[in-house]
Amino acid sequence: MATILIAEDERAINDLMAANLRLVGHRCDQAHTGPEALQKAAAANYDLVLLDVMLPGLDGFAVKNRLPDTLPVIFVTARTNLTDKLRGLGLGAEDYIVKPFEILELLARVETVLRRAHRGEASFRFHDLNVDLAARRVLRAGREVPLTPQEYALLETLVVNRNLALSRDKLLEIAWGYDYQGETRTVDVHIQRLRRKLGLEKEIQTVYKIGYRLNTRGED
Ligand code: CA
Repeated sequence: MATILIAEDERAINDLMAANLRLVGHRCDQAHTGPEALQKAAAANYDLVLLDVMLPGLDGFAVKNRLPDTLPVIFVTARTNLTDKLRGLGLGAEDYIVKPFEILELLARVETVLRRAHRGEASFRFHDLNVDLAARRVLRAGREVPLTPQEYALLETLVVNRNLALSRDKLLEIAWGYDYQGETRTVDVHIQRLRRKLGLEKEIQTVYKIGYRLNTRGED
């Protein structure tokens, strides 16, 4: 559970984010202007800020500049403002979400940033696997499994967001970078290799019409 500040002036979007983050157990405060976001951030100890770029009073970039560097920020931006995204990442944001977004994507991004920020989970054990998230190594039955950087990035994303369905586009973006122009078929090829190398043929599930999910709960 984390304490999250949502700074977004469109109330419907703000409420939607808050409702879904609360559903998965997070505490949320809501701000609707830049100054209100700064005021709330100064008064409480947040784990993460979801920060709309176009905020009244003070825009998201100005707000980010006045927040402590150690406070993780995910920018929320409209699809048309591509340069906003790049500027946001240049300002040290952890990630960005493009509106309109899907709730699963929002939850996945939030979990990824929280885990990265907290390093709360140093390793992940599953069957005969030990994924050392700090050292970025994978052991299977005690032996190191050689993975390419992309295979590791895919695995890490699946592990951190386990039991959530992740789209091929998102996996491609996360494992190969925002600018990568490759095809989603690339993801399928690497997923096949990961399944084989790690013996996760059943656990890394294909989610019909979406992408993949690492199922650690045993059910289908
Ligand atoms: Ca806005």
